[in-house]
Amino acid sequence: MEIEREVKKMTLGHDFGAGAACLKCKEKCEGFELHFWRKICRNCKCGLADHNVHMESEESKKVGRLFEDTKYTGLIAKLKTDGVPTYRGSAVTISLAGPASSYLVPPPASGASVVPPTAAPFGGGTGATGAGATAVSVVPVTVNASSAATETLGKDTPMQCVTYEWAPPGANKYMAVRYIELLPPEKRPVVGSEGAVYRRQQMACQLPEHDQDPSKCHELSPAEVKTMQQFVRKYKDEALGMGDVCLPEEMALVRAAGEQGGPGATGGVTAAAAGAMGPGGGTAGPQQSFSCSHCEQPMRRGEPAVYAERAGYDRLWHPACFVCCTCSELLVDMIYFWKKGKLYCGRHYGDSEKPRCGGCDELIFSNEYTQAENQNWHLKHFCCFDCDCVLAGETYVMEKDKPVCTPCYMINYAVRCVACQQPVEPEAQRVSYGDSHWHAEPECFRCSGCSKCLVGERFMAGQDKLFCSVDCKKKTTA
Ligand SMILES: [Zn+2]
Ligand SMILES: [Zn+2]
Ligand SMILES: [Zn+2]
Ligand SMILES: [Zn+2]
Ligand SMILES: [Zn+2]
Ligand SMILES: [Zn+2]
Ligand SMILES: [Zn+2]
Ligand SMILES: [Zn+2]
Repeated sequence: MEIEREVKKMTLGHDFGAGAACLKCKEKCEGFELHFWRKICRNCKCGLADHNVHMESEESKKVGRLFEDTKYTGLIAKLKTDGVPTYRGSAVTISLAGPASSYLVPPPASGASVVPPTAAPFGGGTGATGAGATAVSVVPVTVNASSAATETLGKDTPMQCVTYEWAPPGANKYMAVRYIELLPPEKRPVVGSEGAVYRRQQMACQLPEHDQDPSKCHELSPAEVKTMQQFVRKYKDEALGMGDVCLPEEMALVRAAGEQGGPGATGGVTAAAAGAMGPGGGTAGPQQSFSCSHCEQPMRRGEPAVYAERAGYDRLWHPACFVCCTCSELLVDMIYFWKKGKLYCGRHYGDSEKPRCGGCDELIFSNEYTQAENQNWHLKHFCCFDCDCVLAGETYVMEKDKPVCTPCYMINYAVRCVACQQPVEPEAQRVSYGDSHWHAEPECFRCSGCSKCLVGERFMAGQDKLFCSVDCKKKTTA
C-alpha cells in the first residue's frame, strides 16, 4: 500500500524536471529527483531552479495563478493581449532604432477621475484612454537624460536588438529598456546572462508555489488547507500587487488630478502640484517632486520610476530601489506584497505572517509545531537532513544549519582522529591543530616518543606526530 501511494505521488507533479542535470553539482548529481516532502533534489539537495530545466511556462503559470482571482485580473488580461512587450510566456525582444529622442505620453485628462497607472500606464496600446475626456494635451518627453542612455539611443546608433527574459509589462519599449538599464548590470534579465539566472533564482525563492497553492504542500489536514486558503485570500485582498513603470512628472499629474477628483484620493498633496496643472503643464511640469521611498534621493524627470498601487500615489521608487525590506533583493518582475508601509517579496511576507518549516520550507498552518535551532519545524519534519529519520527525542548535530542524526554525522561529517583513525563522535572532546584532529584522550593525544598524555600540556607537532619535548622529537625522528 505504502509503495502504491508513493508511486501515485511520483506521477502527481513529482515528474517535473526529473533527470535534469544540476548546474551547481554537475556530474555529482545523477539528475533531478524531487524529495517527497522537502522542496529539493534527493540526489544533490539543491533546488529545482539550480537544475537545467526550462521553467518559463511554469513561471508564467505560477504568476498567473498568483494574480488569478484578484483585482488585478484586468492587468493580467491586458498583459496577455497587449502588443510587445507582453508578459513573457516567451522572451521579449525589443528593437530600438535611432534616432529616437522623444515619444508621446498622454497625461490624464484634467477633471477626469483618477486613472491608476495599472489601468492606463503609457501611450502604447492605450491611446484611447482620454477619448471621452474634454481636453487631452500631448506632452513630449525626452526619453533619456543621461549619457549612458544616449549610447543606446543616439542618432548614429544602428538598430539595437536585445532579448530579455522579462521586461516591464505595459510600458513603452523605450521606458522598458531604460528601466532595465537602471538596474545593476548583473541583475538585468538579458537572455543568457547572469542577470537571467539571478531572475530565475529570485522567481523560485521569492514566490514559492507552496505559499500560494495547498496542493503543492505536503499532506495538509483539511483544517490546515482551510487556514491556508484564508491566508492566501487575505494577502490577495490586502497585500499583493505588481509594480508599474511610470514617469515622476506623470505621477505628479495623477496625484494632482486625484486631489481635484476629491474622495478616495490620497492626502498630503500640496497646492503646488494642483496649481501646476494648466495648459502646457507638461513642459513647465508640476512643481511637485518625488523622492525615492527607499533611498530618499530625488526621482529624476524623464526617468522611469516604479509605482505601487497599494502604496498610494505619494510613493515612487527608483527601479533598482524596488526591493524587499527583508532580503533587499529586487522584487522579481516587480511583484510585491505591501504591509505596514513596507515592501516584501512573497517569501518574506509569508515569514512575517506565519512560521516557516525548516524541513519542507512550507509555512506552518497547524497550531502544533516545534522550535529548534532558531527555526520552526512541522513535528514530522524535524528529521535528519541525510536519512530523514525523525529526530524528536534523539540526539542530533547541526551541520550547516541542517540537523543530522548521530549515525549520519559519523559517516558523512565527523573528522577522523589522526592517532586512531576513527571518526570523532559529536559529543566527544577533541583537540584540533590546523587541519588535524585528535580525540582528547590519553590514548590518542600523546607524545610519539614517551607516550605522555599531552591534553592540557605544551606540545610540538610535526608530520602528524606529537612530541612533549625537543628530546622526544630528536629520539623519534633520528
Ligand atoms: Zn546540485
Ligand atoms: Zn540534483
Ligand atoms: Zn532610490
Ligand atoms: Zn525578501
Ligand atoms: Zn515541514
Ligand atoms: Zn540520518
Ligand atoms: Zn583517536
Ligand atoms: Zn615525550
